[in-house]
Parts: sequence; C-alpha cells; structure tokens
Amino acid sequence: MTDSTIFDKIINKEIPADVVYEDELALAFKDINPQAPFHVLVIPKQRIATINDVNEQNSHLIGHLYAVAAKLAKEHGFAEDGYRAVINCNEHGGQTVYHLHLHLLAGKPMGWPPYQDTKKGLI
Ligand code: AMP
Repeated sequence: MTDSTIFDKIINKEIPADVVYEDELALAFKDINPQAPFHVLVIPKQRIATINDVNEQNSHLIGHLYAVAAKLAKEHGFAEDGYRAVINCNEHGGQTVYHLHLHLLAGKPMGWPPYQDTKKGLI
C-alpha cells in the first residue's frame, strides 16, 4: 500500500472539500487551485498512487472515473463544447499528489500541445 495523501483525508471527511459527486467507488470535488472556470478532480476511493499502478484488478476504476467525468460534464453543460479529462503521472507528467486523480477542466478552450519547449529537438 502506498503512503496516505491529503486526498485520503478528503475521502474520510477529515478535511473539507467542495464535493460535487460521490458514489461507492469515486469522489469528485473542486480543485483548490482551479486552472479553468470548471476544474474538478475525480478520484477513486481506493488509493492508487499513479497510472503506473493500474492493473487488471483495478483498471475498472479508471473507466469509472471517466464515466463520472462524462456525467459531470453533461450535467454542468460542458459536454457539447468539450473539455479536457487528464491524469498526470509522476514528475514529468506534473503529478504532485500521489493518489491518482482525473482532472476535469472545462469552460474555456484548452491549448494544445500542452507543453512547448524552445530548445531544438525536445519536441
Ligand atoms: P496533480 O498536480 O496532477 O497531482 O494535481 C493535484 C491537484 O490537487 C492540483 O491541481 C491541486 O490544486 C489539487 N489540490 C491539492 N490539494 C487540494 C485540496 N485540499 N482540495 C482540492 N484540491 C487540491
């Protein structure tokens, strides 16, 4: 089992969060530092540290996170315009909390590619 994170405290209601959805497998709450007009984190209640820890036993949870994201996007009126639903992995992916989470970002057009480096040859 990986180390506990702040998200376990949110799951266990030990610290507050602006929860927008909850079921037996997942929890969704507003990101404390939003990067879009609508920025929600969808997390599995079971602790999975990173995408590297996804396997045949727990991969159904990842599908569930995306099902919750799709439901929230529809409910909040972002489905047609579109949105981004991403999971960062480890340092190069920009992960800071080691309890896997899906970022649901919506309400404005997103840039792509997400990262550009002026140093020749990096991309
Ligand atoms: P990542 O960098 O992909 O690991 O994303 C971690 C996200 O968790 C960041 O967008 C943070 O703003 C967010 N975050 C950290 N602590 C909290 C918290 N207590 N409540 C809500 N969001 C949080």
